[in-house]
Amino acid sequence: MNPAHSPKIKADIRMCGVKLARILVLLSIAALMALVLSRAGKGGRIAEKTSLSMGTIVQIKVPYDRSEGDRRIEAKIEQAFSEIRRVENVFSVYRANSEVSRINRLAYGQPIRISDEVFGLIEMALEYNRKTDGAFDITVKPLVDLWAEAKASGRMPKEEEVNAALEMTGSQNVILDKASKTISFKKRGVAIDLGAVAKGYATDRAIAVLKQSGIKSAIVNSGGDMYCLGMRSKKEPWTIGIQHPRDRRRLFLELKLADRAIDTSGDYEKFFVLDGKRYSHIIDPRTGYPVGDNVASATVTAADSVTADIYATALCALGPKGLDMIKKANGVDAMIVVNEGGVLRQEASPHFEERYNVSKIDL
Ligand code: AMP
Ligand code: MG
Repeated sequence: MNPAHSPKIKADIRMCGVKLARILVLLSIAALMALVLSRAGKGGRIAEKTSLSMGTIVQIKVPYDRSEGDRRIEAKIEQAFSEIRRVENVFSVYRANSEVSRINRLAYGQPIRISDEVFGLIEMALEYNRKTDGAFDITVKPLVDLWAEAKASGRMPKEEEVNAALEMTGSQNVILDKASKTISFKKRGVAIDLGAVAKGYATDRAIAVLKQSGIKSAIVNSGGDMYCLGMRSKKEPWTIGIQHPRDRRRLFLELKLADRAIDTSGDYEKFFVLDGKRYSHIIDPRTGYPVGDNVASATVTAADSVTADIYATALCALGPKGLDMIKKANGVDAMIVVNEGGVLRQEASPHFEERYNVSKIDL
């Protein structure tokens, strides 16, 4: 689900084990956009497991008491990972037999019956298309494919190619029928990509599974889509550090969270360069072109990871103007790092710093 690099990484893994080890080391350095800075409390332990999923590194940390037993905690964490793998199998556009791939193959001109789960997430995503003034749009897939081809070939698409893909983009091309739980597309070539929301959804689902097993404190981090469950200890919330968008060796932002999601999208993990210009993996569905480098990153906190994931992607397309939308959204806060000709500055929604006890901003 991490379109810019997942297919290649997956292929490399299949090819050879030595490469896998190297990729894992590289990924653990590069792919995590946020690091958890917590320490185990007195007498307590932290169980931690990292795995490759959805084309990125997924990490789960659970503080626990010795009396709980290592094996039992490990089994609970494993259940959360299987839920993440299940979500990936349903939503990934890179899996030919996923439900979303099936929709993309069959839904033109005929209603296709889909699961409640997929219907619910698509319905929500279409609602956010309206809430974000078109900046977040799951029908962006024809454009994602066009720009992936441009990235691979190094050739800038012609204007008419962009316009043709734009023709197939837009939530007006999708018909959802709640009564029959069906979906259909109005035009040939319309396709959906839930890559900007599925990692957040997987994080929320993993947290739900951990909660069901009685866990009250945990962090799930799906390549930057994070949820902090409870506090890390009786007195302390979780401390989260966000990677500097231009220097992966250091953190530029540190803040504290409990029972909250945080997600960062940016132009620095999956960008590409065409005709000397740097482009993000996020596309502005209103123009058909990838977002340039003027929003280096957008960090969003929300009550759940789906909401944080959606707004983080939308803010990269909207820029600082998008902060007005955040002010109106209930329980959502955000910080954007704006790049003005190489000079970075941050802009945040009104209560971001005091609400999350921001202890460091260093750009
Ligand atoms: P994220 O990393 O969460 O910001 O999601 C980015 C991914 O979502 C991209 O790799 C595309 O697959 C897809 N995408 C790109 N632009 C948009 C957009 N404007 N709205 C929704 N999804 C998008
Ligand atoms: Mg997103």
